Amino acid sequence: MTTTLITGANKGLGYETARRLIGAGHTVYIGSRDAARGRRAAGQLGAGARAVQLDVTDDASVAAAVKTIEAEGGLDVLINNAGIEVRGPNNEVPTAANTTAGMMREVFETNVFGTVRVTRAFLPLLQRSATPVVVNVSSGLASLTHVSEPGHPTAAYPGVAYPASKTAVNMITVQYAKAFPDMRINAVEPGFTKTDLNGNTGTQTVEEGVGIIVRMAQVGPDGPTGGYFDAAGPLPW
Ligand code: NAP
Repeated sequence: MTTTLITGANKGLGYETARRLIGAGHTVYIGSRDAARGRRAAGQLGAGARAVQLDVTDDASVAAAVKTIEAEGGLDVLINNAGIEVRGPNNEVPTAANTTAGMMREVFETNVFGTVRVTRAFLPLLQRSATPVVVNVSSGLASLTHVSEPGHPTAAYPGVAYPASKTAVNMITVQYAKAFPDMRINAVEPGFTKTDLNGNTGTQTVEEGVGIIVRMAQVGPDGPTGGYFDAAGPLPW
């Protein structure tokens, strides 16, 4: 029996990942910063889903989630999925000229510091698993190669905070993978997916988006680690 925690699983890609992994036989903790939203999502997902309150920006919340999951039997797979993007009132992405240090801090607090906070807190549990796996939900916008390539679709994105946060997630992935060679730790790019994150402007469905998350969550001990993948294969850093 595989036990999995997904942060930010009450909606969007996290919720759909939970649905798929429950279908594959995992017991899935639905991490949600709002306890009621998490309970509702777990209720909809049915048997195999368990709600756990977890705000990735809050040490006490993360510590309590570790205690709960440890007491109920431990953890095999951690999916760092919770993420935010700052947008303006008309869903516009703040450009380089409009990006403030405060916006950077807000996005990094969840996407970067949250990933480190949660990973570090769950390491002891993961180290007790026979097949520990970490999936960091990154973005195609993390790729310095693609974003700086004229004509590449990601090169048109004008924002600073969100892509920088995901590039940091990629580096965190590489460094943790080297530090913990017995774990499979990878970063994934789901693709531009219709969710609340982008005001539902994405071009693919959550069913399509979660493919690579689900695959990397199920990677075996001989699978890759320290990599960055989308549905088609490895991506350039
Ligand atoms: P979403 O529908 O907005 O879902 C984001 C989830 O993260 C929600 O459950 C949200 O909870 C949660 N969250 C935000 N801040 C949190 C915090 N401090 N603690 C715990 N949970 C928190 O967006 P999504 O598109 O599914 O995003 C999931 C991941 O995919 C993110 O890391 C995102 O960057 C990444 N991604 C998305 C796309 C895309 O096109 N959609 C592309 C590439 C990568 P609430 O409901 O409480 O707000």
